[in-house]
Amino acid sequence: MNPWFVLPLASGLVCLGFGVLLLVRGGSAATSRSGGFLLLGGAWWGLFEALWTLAPDAGTALLLLRLSTPGWVFIGPLCLELLLAETPRGPEQLRRLRPLAWGTAATALACAWTTDWVHVGVEPVPWGWAWRVGPLYAPWYVFTVVTATTGILAALRRLRVTASPAEQRQRRWFLVAVSVPLILASASDALLPLFGVHVPRVGVASFAILGAVITASIRRFGWSVVAPGSLVGVIFDAMPEGVALVEPGGSIRVANPGLAALLSRPGARLMGTRVADFLPGLDLQVDSEIRECETELLRAGDTRLPVSVSTTPLRDKRGSHLGLVLVIRDLTEVVALRTRLLTSARLAAVGELAAGIAHEINNPLAYINANLRALRDQWLTVAGTWPSESGKAKILEVFEEGLDMLDESLEGVERTAAIVRDVRSFSHAGTGVRERIDPEFLIERALRMANPHLCSRARVVRESNVAVEIECVRRELEQVLLNLLINAAQALDGHGTIRVRMARRGEELEIAVADDGCGIDPDALDRIFDPFFTTKPVGEGTGLGLSISHEIVRRHGGRLEVSSERGRGSEFRLLLPVAAD
Ligand code: ADP
Repeated sequence: MNPWFVLPLASGLVCLGFGVLLLVRGGSAATSRSGGFLLLGGAWWGLFEALWTLAPDAGTALLLLRLSTPGWVFIGPLCLELLLAETPRGPEQLRRLRPLAWGTAATALACAWTTDWVHVGVEPVPWGWAWRVGPLYAPWYVFTVVTATTGILAALRRLRVTASPAEQRQRRWFLVAVSVPLILASASDALLPLFGVHVPRVGVASFAILGAVITASIRRFGWSVVAPGSLVGVIFDAMPEGVALVEPGGSIRVANPGLAALLSRPGARLMGTRVADFLPGLDLQVDSEIRECETELLRAGDTRLPVSVSTTPLRDKRGSHLGLVLVIRDLTEVVALRTRLLTSARLAAVGELAAGIAHEINNPLAYINANLRALRDQWLTVAGTWPSESGKAKILEVFEEGLDMLDESLEGVERTAAIVRDVRSFSHAGTGVRERIDPEFLIERALRMANPHLCSRARVVRESNVAVEIECVRRELEQVLLNLLINAAQALDGHGTIRVRMARRGEELEIAVADDGCGIDPDALDRIFDPFFTTKPVGEGTGLGLSISHEIVRRHGGRLEVSSERGRGSEFRLLLPVAAD
């Protein structure tokens, strides 16, 4: 038995392994498909070369040689495809050459099988059999070298302008991989036989080297260049957002590591986990809509994380439901920002209120001061007239007047304390805890705080015929009403009326604040809820009031509506869900 058969057999098996690996791992990517078929060709070629090395006679050897043809005749077009796939924006002319390349290779195959134009016959050599070439052999060889070299040149040109340095390096490895068989195989298996010189053939072995170089490059640089499709997996794994495919029953089919991290279970395999376990109350109905909502994620250790969840229904090509894609984003920073924005708006409102508050505190202080001085003077007088009879009557008189003054002063002190209390509670960030509340109480407090702005220029009329409760963060809704009242007061031209109306509309409570002030320009009407939109002079308006109010109301499951007519006035309507009985 000729021991030379081991080399092509072993090389063929190596090619088979690398080829299958490329085809299986690389999926449908063009690069791995071409590389995989090139290597499977090498495996086919190696198997038949091993067989013909052992062939007992020339006839069998020639037959096996011809059967090996599909393994090597397509080298040119496959190399071209491999390199074109690696140069995605490659020259269009080269792409048009593809059918010609494949057609020529197929013709060469047909000729090799049916005629003597490629191989005329074989002759014995120490390493098995060598072939004698026919007239088509030289053109086929030139064609193979030209197609593969054209691909290499195109790839080299593209290398200069292509993608990341890592991708460039990987593509360089590919060029080396393709050049090895082209140089080695073409010398030992094609060029020398063309001139009747026979040396041990290393064609298949050089293909095994091609497989090894490609595989080494993939190990080193990853699959992203060979199979861009695998990039999707890389992106999926790298995303900080939690992404999951959820079956119609509500359990996870596949999830990325981002979701495990959000759940404080890094590295956990979430397959089969029920979504309701960490997003209770999330609507998993599969309809045709993409939906977004904000909720809380239950994490390991019973902690909660504010998140936004978008659900996208997934269907197959026939329209049947496959499940839902969930994308979950951490909102911790957004929530912190919102709180900061609310606080700054609240502080801005406090600034606006400060002048009025100073005035409001001044009034009670003035009469407390006056009363206390009068009391002092009178008691001095009493001290002077005591203990005569007329002095006794005077004492009684002074004490009666003094009582009135004390009552009035006490009332003034209480009023001052109430104003200070209101402002302090308003300017401190809230706990965010919702409570059931009578909306009358909210309106009462907001009117009291806005009083410094209202009393001089507005007549406030209140209308209400409802007795309902709402669930809300008290301070936040007070802030909304206060903004509406201050805006209404500022819109009044000199003097006017502000109506605060409350009515029930089905399952909603409507609180309307209407003024007969300047009204809003139709152009501005679309923008008044935008942050920082203001028509007021610097120092008076921040443009935050309505945008923050809008956001607060939205978070309470309600909405803020407006209607306005230039010169006639505006009405802002706050609609909030009524608390269940
Ligand atoms: P700011 O009051 O600081 O300007 P807002 O967001 O509260 O900020 O209001 C934005 C703009 O909406 C105001 O500048 C004003 O032009 C308009 N606006 C709000 N309420 C009224 C109202 N009741 N009447 C007329 N214009 C109003």
